[in-house]
Amino acid sequence: MNKAGKKKTGVYENVVKQFNKAADLIDFDPEIRKVLATTQNELTVNFPVKMDDGHIEIFSGYRVQHNNALGPYKGGLRYHPAVDIDEVRALATWMTWKSAIVHIPFGGAKGGIQCDPFKYSRSEIQRITRRFTYALGCNIGPEYDIPAPDVNTNAQIMAWILDTYLSTQSPLTRQASVHVVTGKPVESGGSLGRDKATGQGVVFTIEQWAKDRKHDLKGATHFVQGYGNVGSWAAMLMKPYGAKMVAVSDLCGCFQNPEGIEPHELNDYFKKNRTFDGFPKLRKIDDKQFLSTKADIFIPAALENQITAETADLLNVKVVAEGANGPTDPDGDEILQKKGIDIIPDVLCNAGGVIVSYFEWLQNKRSECWDLDEVDRKLRKIIVGGYDRVRDAAKTHKTDWRTAAYIVALTRLERVYKERGIFP
Ligand code: GLU
Repeated sequence: MNKAGKKKTGVYENVVKQFNKAADLIDFDPEIRKVLATTQNELTVNFPVKMDDGHIEIFSGYRVQHNNALGPYKGGLRYHPAVDIDEVRALATWMTWKSAIVHIPFGGAKGGIQCDPFKYSRSEIQRITRRFTYALGCNIGPEYDIPAPDVNTNAQIMAWILDTYLSTQSPLTRQASVHVVTGKPVESGGSLGRDKATGQGVVFTIEQWAKDRKHDLKGATHFVQGYGNVGSWAAMLMKPYGAKMVAVSDLCGCFQNPEGIEPHELNDYFKKNRTFDGFPKLRKIDDKQFLSTKADIFIPAALENQITAETADLLNVKVVAEGANGPTDPDGDEILQKKGIDIIPDVLCNAGGVIVSYFEWLQNKRSECWDLDEVDRKLRKIIVGGYDRVRDAAKTHKTDWRTAAYIVALTRLERVYKERGIFP
């Protein structure tokens, strides 16, 4: 049980199953398999924070570093009641595969704090963030482990992490350490296009899929689960293609409008009200009706384990574009495959965030500022490269796209381990 009172099936178990399926298929080196089946470092920190009314609360924070064979550990921090070591372990491992698939020089990590951030004031969130950063100490660093936003964290939180980290460094190294965190506000060293990057990557992969399938996106219908950073940007960026959002969900419930929901207006409304209730022409539906929505594309952009043995059968779409990390569990996966639904797997589909984080990291190191066109052009090139590799691997190994994505990542890591060997 977690603090939210929900029994969670171990997400890390899903990762292990996915990993084993791919490794078996390619006769993966058994020794390297042992290495990649294990996270390298796992840190839990319990730290006190003074609340606005003067009382103290103790928080548990985590950082798991799965692997750094391809580059420094990289991955987001989430603030959510369901955060625990099992979830963070899974998310860290997915980050390793993600960077390996799109060929960026990062390893995998993830972290977070088990808390409901909506319960706290802005100044409390600031103190929680700063105290967590202090507790992490030298376990993060610009060439070692680089956090970024994830569920319920944003550019402002990254700015507080940056400021806290720099304040604890010697004055001589401060300016050379701005790349300790990515997803910062642009004025504080962030990259143009980082805010929308994950949603943009999701849309670029959908565009590729549509080209492959000769499916016209003009007039195509889609629905989005979770209207946070990834879901809202994906919806807004689908609009210029002439695609129509027909249903949407978030913590406030599920809603539909078969005539189409204007994503920008919904975004403004949702940011202001934290609910879709009262938005013109939306009809409230239940979870089952939502997942049964007949559409071309489903974009899960919320949490893990949404498409499972219980829910996968409901889906009535051509493709699932996984904006979230781990939205489909292995049972759900099998059902989607049987139903002939295409999947653009999370480790490819949502890699746009970490790709533009890489651009931000590079810009900081070189004291450069790239314009938005340059960021978008490079993002498209890199994520389409990953897409092509996954599609080709699926063909070569006659397997599903998630397993193919793992094969791409594992093959790259296997090569690196064979070249470098195991110390000593
Ligand atoms: N949290 C994002 C992800 O899951 C971005 C990570 C990053 O930019 O390091 O991919």
